[in-house]
Amino acid sequence: MIPKILEKEIMARHTTLRVGGPADFFAEPNTAEELSELVKYAASENMPLTILGGGTNLLVADEGIEGLVIKLGEGFTKISVSGTTLTAGCGASMAEVADAAARNNLGGLQGAGTVPGTLGGAIVMNAGTHEGNIGAAVRSLRAVKTDGTVVDLTHEECGFTYRNSRFQREKDFILAEAVLELEPADGKAVYESLEAVRRHRRETQPVGFSAGCFFKNREHMSAGRMIDESGCKGMRVGGAYVSDIHANFIMNDGTAAARDLYELAEKVRETVKKEKNVDLEYEVRLIGRWTKK
Ligand SMILES: Cc1cc2nc3c(=O)[nH]c(=O)nc-3n(C[C@H](O)[C@H](O)[C@H](O)COP(=O)(O)OP(=O)(O)OC[C@H]3O[C@@H](n4cnc5c(N)ncnc54)[C@H](O)[C@@H]3O)c2cc1C
Repeated sequence: MIPKILEKEIMARHTTLRVGGPADFFAEPNTAEELSELVKYAASENMPLTILGGGTNLLVADEGIEGLVIKLGEGFTKISVSGTTLTAGCGASMAEVADAAARNNLGGLQGAGTVPGTLGGAIVMNAGTHEGNIGAAVRSLRAVKTDGTVVDLTHEECGFTYRNSRFQREKDFILAEAVLELEPADGKAVYESLEAVRRHRRETQPVGFSAGCFFKNREHMSAGRMIDESGCKGMRVGGAYVSDIHANFIMNDGTAAARDLYELAEKVRETVKKEKNVDLEYEVRLIGRWTKK
């Protein structure tokens, strides 16, 4: 059965930057069958598809998103553990996945387990910290393709590299469920390590509407440091500003349009190019109806 489809759902409600105009259509399937029916329906209507995770790494255009936006519903948040294997729906939050691992005396998610957002979004982004990225733990994945077929992929077939995966290039996979291979560990110590990083984030990262780091780090070169050294801290466009606390955080003061955030990001890129001769690459994903000005 096709789940309920909403019209003109405002994407700012679904993104941590709190910007983004309406999606033409929006649905939250709860089973692989619903998901499969939904994508077949979208294909039959020639609707472009966009997949939303927790919206923690997205800059959605003010003009919204064409076609159908799919966000995995509650049915995709189940987590189960057997031995050292954890199986979870890709709509589960990374925090819940990592905490479930710790409760079952399993380690291996101390890096990605502190990153906001869902398991699906983390896999697409190969999210993580210096403690490790999610890709290293992924043994296999079940995805629904945009033609409605269900496929299983091995770790090798996911093409993980730094903050990247095959799924950023090939948009026809909707990640539904992942099998993670973890390692036996002292659960209490794992949980304490997760909490220590979460505390550190609260103490050192700016509070407000953000998408985390806007730009990717370069090998041995922190993007935040390059932005800071180029004198960008405090730069503003409309309601968008470069954080004084962490220069790679481009924030919304609550009044910014997506266009303000984009124009400020481009200004930062131009400044770093001029000062450091480095081309910063976006880590945040720009989606929706972006028109050139
Ligand atoms: C305060 C803050 C701190 C952050 N710190 C870090 C950090 O330390 N390390 C780090 O790596 N990131 C960090 N991030 C960025 C972000 O949290 C990660 O990139 C996260 O993994 C994105 O997950 P998400 O579910 O929100 O995905 P979204 O932002 O919703 O989507 C990201 C991409 O994945 C795609 N996608 C999402 N779900 C699926 C799915 N099921 N199937 C197919 N495609 C899908 C989307 O289409 C999009 O292209 C931070 C963000 C914030 C706000």
